[in-house]
Amino acid sequence: MEPLESLEAQSVTRINRVIWDLTYACPLRCIHCYSESGRRPARMLDRERMRQVAEVIIAIGPERVSFSGGEPLLAPWWDEAASLLREAGIPVTVFASGWVMDQSVADRLSQAVTAVTVSVDGADEQTHDAIRGRTGSYRRAMAALERLSRVKLACTERAEPCFRLGIDYTVTRSGYSNLGSFVATATSRFPGLDYVRFGAVMPVGLGQETGFAADELLSDKELEALVDAEPELSSRASNGIEVSVTDVRSFLPTSPLSVEGEGIAQIEPDGQLRAFACYEAKVGNVLDEPIDVLWGRALAWRASPFVREQTNTIHSLTDWARATRILDRRYGSEADKVRIAHRK
Ligand code: SF4
Repeated sequence: MEPLESLEAQSVTRINRVIWDLTYACPLRCIHCYSESGRRPARMLDRERMRQVAEVIIAIGPERVSFSGGEPLLAPWWDEAASLLREAGIPVTVFASGWVMDQSVADRLSQAVTAVTVSVDGADEQTHDAIRGRTGSYRRAMAALERLSRVKLACTERAEPCFRLGIDYTVTRSGYSNLGSFVATATSRFPGLDYVRFGAVMPVGLGQETGFAADELLSDKELEALVDAEPELSSRASNGIEVSVTDVRSFLPTSPLSVEGEGIAQIEPDGQLRAFACYEAKVGNVLDEPIDVLWGRALAWRASPFVREQTNTIHSLTDWARATRILDRRYGSEADKVRIAHRK
């Protein structure tokens, strides 16, 4: 890595959100996985070190924390980690595939977290299973939503607080059909839902590779059409469930809307802090060095001349894929580089 400048920016951007990847273990093999999970070592922490990472996050005091991965519910201590954060007043959202959602997990979620988002990436079983790389994943996701919806409604009946429940739909070209009928079906079938969110697949992780970018990334026109479809998709919802389309262009480094992305700190399963959530560059481990030192390094990385040169030329998802390929291959760890070189 080139020498890092000391920047005034270090004290300007504060961490407002933490994405904590609890593990890279995952039962699914999604074609677009941002973290290539299930195909790399899980790197999960033991309980003692999990608590140390939780303490670091509590000291930061972000507005919210997202548990991601991998399948975060495979970490044996996920509920303890969530409780530590919640007790400190920090809202926790779990992003889950639905594969490991038995009744006990659903009940524990109702006690431990602020929101649960289940990923569904196809409007029907065949499409979803093909994108998610495992037969049965659509059925398991539907069963998980059924269970979570029941738990949610039972809490509401007892006037007890419960998680917000949502569906996150990552739109690839393969999955970009029948979105309206999906909204109609899901919102009537799962009345405990609070939201359904659509967002175009981002060129990050496996999504950056040239073959995927050519076949599955949305074109500028498709992306605009998806964003413009929000009112139509909302009109198909029942039970007052909120439907929205995230404009992923807000995450483009050159977008005036990118301020939100600037304040995100992403922590990998073994405690390493990424320099920027979309890229493989790491700036050190929160278990070894103070977070403010690491965060300063992350901001310096983002402002360094070579990184700026790449990110300043991003105007479309295709440009973004190119920049991600260059940055990951230059700044990933040796293990990342070996893994990337073996991608097909
Ligand atoms: S479920 Fe999530 S973490 Fe697992 S392979 Fe799919 S995208 Fe990656």
